[in-house]
Amino acid sequence: MPTPTIVWFRKDLRLSDNPALHAAVARAEPVLCLFVLDDAVDGALPVGGAAKWWLHHSLTHLSRALEEIGGRLILRSGPASKIVPDLAQETGAGAVYWNRCYEPDAIARDKALKTDLNGAGVDACSFNGSLLYEPWEVKTKAGGAFGVFTPFWKAERALGDPPAPVAAPKSLDTFAGDWGGESLSDWNLLPTRPNWAKAFSDHWQPGEEGARVRLGEFLDDVVATYSDTRNSPAVDGTSRLSPHLAFGELSPREVWHLSLEEARRSPSKESGIWSFLREIGWRDFNHNLLFNNPDIPAENYNRKFDAFPWQKDDDAFDAWCRGRTGYPMVDAGMRELWQTGFMHNRVRMVAASFLIKHLLIDWRAGEAWFRDTLLDADLANNTTNWQWVAGSGADAAPFFRIFNPIGQGEKFDPDGRYVRRWVPEIADLPDKYLMKPWEAPEDMRREAGIELGETYPRPLVDHAKARARALEAYEEVKGAA
Ligand code: FAD
Repeated sequence: MPTPTIVWFRKDLRLSDNPALHAAVARAEPVLCLFVLDDAVDGALPVGGAAKWWLHHSLTHLSRALEEIGGRLILRSGPASKIVPDLAQETGAGAVYWNRCYEPDAIARDKALKTDLNGAGVDACSFNGSLLYEPWEVKTKAGGAFGVFTPFWKAERALGDPPAPVAAPKSLDTFAGDWGGESLSDWNLLPTRPNWAKAFSDHWQPGEEGARVRLGEFLDDVVATYSDTRNSPAVDGTSRLSPHLAFGELSPREVWHLSLEEARRSPSKESGIWSFLREIGWRDFNHNLLFNNPDIPAENYNRKFDAFPWQKDDDAFDAWCRGRTGYPMVDAGMRELWQTGFMHNRVRMVAASFLIKHLLIDWRAGEAWFRDTLLDADLANNTTNWQWVAGSGADAAPFFRIFNPIGQGEKFDPDGRYVRRWVPEIADLPDKYLMKPWEAPEDMRREAGIELGETYPRPLVDHAKARARALEAYEEVKGAA
């Protein structure tokens, strides 16, 4: 009787460059593919509302792709710490293979699981399927962890190119038998009433194939100008690979090698490609930070910020969430997020800064909203980026550098294309007033069909006063021990 190898899929919903799957196939035993919806383990699965939409479609694609090569994906929900060993016992599995996650809860669960499985005589083995290099591989000369990106990146680059990707299996020898499993539709991952995700499919194609198409288009064309256009939210100037990477539909190592191949073919793209790969490096850095500082999702990295006088203001928070702050650049971003499950990085910084510094609302509230509404929601990237904006994070923007939401709009959306798209009710204002409708002369506003406080909100706070208030609040942090 053959003993199967269970391949436990997690944030690696792909066949190509999937080291756990590759190693399982190499054992020359039948394979059983499993996905567990274990939403009790924080961050190990992106299970915010928007991410659930993606997960549904990504699992549909993975399931189909496995069937095409003779496999089958078994779905189960509940604590993986019980489901995985139970299935191993039911099937008499000789091995369980998976790719590692780096969230503190996932690490604790996986460690315990490995001990249990190995104790039961099952070969439990994990692999790197999500990062260029793992946190324990990129260390300071003294063997410590990095807190600043530039030296981290230098050290990571010094390790050389990450190993080349492994190929997708052409066929799978599936372990025979009916091993049960649940139906994806019973998981109710898609929103029903109201279906707030209805426009998502106009913008996204979840799944490994969609990820490859997106990377191909990016490398063919957009990457050539990436260094210049990556800060322009009106332009399709970035890769938009983040949800694909968050769900592991594409491995960063494969992205790395395909990008370098393109750079060799088209040397004129080299500079854009390196600036893009540096961002993939930031992704590694943030996972490294989370691994070495497991409190980051809940606590300030810089504990001085524990003394920060956060304000509780539910109305202001609600206005921010709904894109009704009266600052067009912030509102455009928040509406793009709600309608598409994505927000351009530059606007994420502006919107997050507005919440933290203009409204003095705790970064953790914004992080939670982003986690629920972003398709690329990821514990490491979201929490470290929020702390970066707040000034409380590692290698963070200093708190006293307060983004002016008007100036940011004028600089990064100079012809107002982005704002006009997402805040159409002010689209008829001339560029000069687009980022500050309250300063437009009354008759000009009337002509543009705008009545402040009715058709578009008055600004929630005055920028200069809010800035002064934020700097005053920061004094309490500066003085903290
Ligand atoms: P590109 O510019 O094409 O970059 C390529 C890839 O590099 C991205 O797909 C992403 O995986 C990685 N990357 C780019 N910028 C960053 C960054 N600043 N930090 C870490 N990795 C980066 N990114 C997430 O993936 N998930 C999140 O939950 C998330 N939350 C954020 C919250 C805030 C407040 C801010 C300011 C940024 C956040 N980011 C997050 C980082 C960044 O905004 C997105 O990764 C990026 O906008 C995705 O677009 P792209 O794929 O077109 O990026």
